[in-house]
Amino acid sequence: MKNLIFLTISFFAFSCSQSITKNNAQDSLQTDNENIEKVVVEKPEEIFKRDSAIDYSSLSETEWKKILTEQEYYILREKGTERAFSGDLLDNKRKGTYVCAGCATPLYKSKTKFKSGTGWPSFYDIIDGNVLSVPDNSYGMTRTEVVCATCKGHQGHVFKDGPRPTGLRYCINSVSIKFIED
Ligand SMILES: [Zn+2]
Repeated sequence: MKNLIFLTISFFAFSCSQSITKNNAQDSLQTDNENIEKVVVEKPEEIFKRDSAIDYSSLSETEWKKILTEQEYYILREKGTERAFSGDLLDNKRKGTYVCAGCATPLYKSKTKFKSGTGWPSFYDIIDGNVLSVPDNSYGMTRTEVVCATCKGHQGHVFKDGPRPTGLRYCINSVSIKFIED
């Protein structure tokens, strides 16, 4: 019985919650567990980078297959398109830089990201010199494809219905980019 009282007091002593008024050790245990989970979620994300010793402009498709996931390979190397509204970075509003998921070249700044409603991350500008435009006449359409200037990885397409000041809408696959917070 003495041990039980001690245990109960311990629960109250270590709890961060200010709303414990009931004599219920189970409640305070639950609160502690929630706090532990929160700490895990707030751990800093690993910063995405590629090996600076590798020349990503001349990798063979076999080599790309080794370093990319299946979905990244399909979109970056086979010019695939992710499902609308499926991308992790669609609603990302944090300040930072979006880099190529293939070679980590910085391609877009968060200040040029805007909500287009299309279901893909959209930017009205690029980091000059790091993104190339290429005519794309596939699927019977006349479009302009955008690729990473370093590794030629497919990013998406650019359209002329974007907001000011450029009037452009870079419609980009979430899978083709990684986010690095400022
Ligand atoms: Zn790249």
